[in-house]
Amino acid sequence: MVWHPYSAVNADLCIFPVKSAQGVVIKLMDGRELIDGMSSWWSAIHGYNHPVMNQAIIRQLESMAHIMFGGLTHQPAVELAAKLVEITPNSLATVFFSDSGSVAVEVAMKMAIQYWHSKQQPNKQKMLTIRHGYHGDTFGAMSVSDPVNGMHSLFASSLAQQIFVDAPSCKFHQTCTANDSQPLIEQLEKNHQQIAAVILEPIVQGAGGMRFYSPDYLKHVRELCDQFKVLLILDEIATGFGRTGKLFACEYAKTEPDILCLGKALTGGYLTLAATMTTTEIAQSISHHDPGVFMHGPTFMANPLACTAGLASLDILLNSSWQEKIVQIEKALKIGLKPCLDFPQVKDVRVLGAIGVVELQSPVNLKTIQPKFVDEGVWLRPFNKLIYLMPPFIITDDELHDLINAVIKIISRI
Ligand SMILES: *Cc1c(COP(=O)(O)O)cnc(C)c1O
Repeated sequence: MVWHPYSAVNADLCIFPVKSAQGVVIKLMDGRELIDGMSSWWSAIHGYNHPVMNQAIIRQLESMAHIMFGGLTHQPAVELAAKLVEITPNSLATVFFSDSGSVAVEVAMKMAIQYWHSKQQPNKQKMLTIRHGYHGDTFGAMSVSDPVNGMHSLFASSLAQQIFVDAPSCKFHQTCTANDSQPLIEQLEKNHQQIAAVILEPIVQGAGGMRFYSPDYLKHVRELCDQFKVLLILDEIATGFGRTGKLFACEYAKTEPDILCLGKALTGGYLTLAATMTTTEIAQSISHHDPGVFMHGPTFMANPLACTAGLASLDILLNSSWQEKIVQIEKALKIGLKPCLDFPQVKDVRVLGAIGVVELQSPVNLKTIQPKFVDEGVWLRPFNKLIYLMPPFIITDDELHDLINAVIKIISRI
């Protein structure tokens, strides 16, 4: 038996065997073809089986698939790090590679704590965050993810106790009021001597509820972090690489983090790779104070195949007219999903960049709804009350139209 994500091992699970995937089409073993509306959880931004991506990886494979990163280095890692430094906010100058998003978050939290240790402030070990966040499934990442969605009660005595405040209620296009940041201010005033960092997903809270909040709030968080001498960690693992309409969502607020987490679309959905980036000041401070090294080093750190995929993916993205494409997808999602608002079973419809969300009044039954989407020829994976679309950027107008129509048809029958 094989476990699937967030699943039981029951035999009655509805799992669809895939034969191959090409462009935005997932081909099932039984011959059915599905338009992909998920980008394999935010990652496959250029679609599947991309000839340029394939070629780059094959070429790298012929020289080496992997080599340890302790004491050795290689071109793909050096080039990808340089590229990331070039395209991310100016203050970020160093890159720590790891295997997955969750690990990148663990690394970010350790960096923040080790930075304050290097500044003779060893009491600054706690993280402050907002509810409805999602930062991954490992213990550190879980400790800052939403306590209810993340079932903190189940892991209570193993989980670090972090500080949570209410998420802002100001929506993307709204301005924030003092009420939105008041809970954060209160906690910072009370606990700043224990807080190493504030950690947030900028603008879009993903798996914790698909909520979009105002850039105003993020700007204010940055100011508060500076005022109270707390680092700001931004988790752009879901939002990075164009998905929201900016290359990085923090650009909406013209805000720079002290530490940035990247993953998911970093390799165009080909291989697992993540990065934690920070400023020269933080990296130097950690490196020049006891113990004089940063205490982390995964076995598959900076895997050459994954770094090569990252370079190829960024090359494709940055040489495409991705901004226009995202605007086009956004427009189609806004117009196409609007009729959903007429259904009594729909609570809200929201769109930002290439992300479309239909929030229902009550949770879906995944077991019954999943086969219906497949019967309609689309691949969507709702969770809880949310049916959401985040297609590969290469999706055509017609394919997007079919995807949206399937959503409307199925919601109308719930
Ligand atoms: C998916 C995700 C993670 C975890 O990444 P994994 O690669 O699944 O470990 C962390 N943060 C955010 C915002 C994510 O969307």
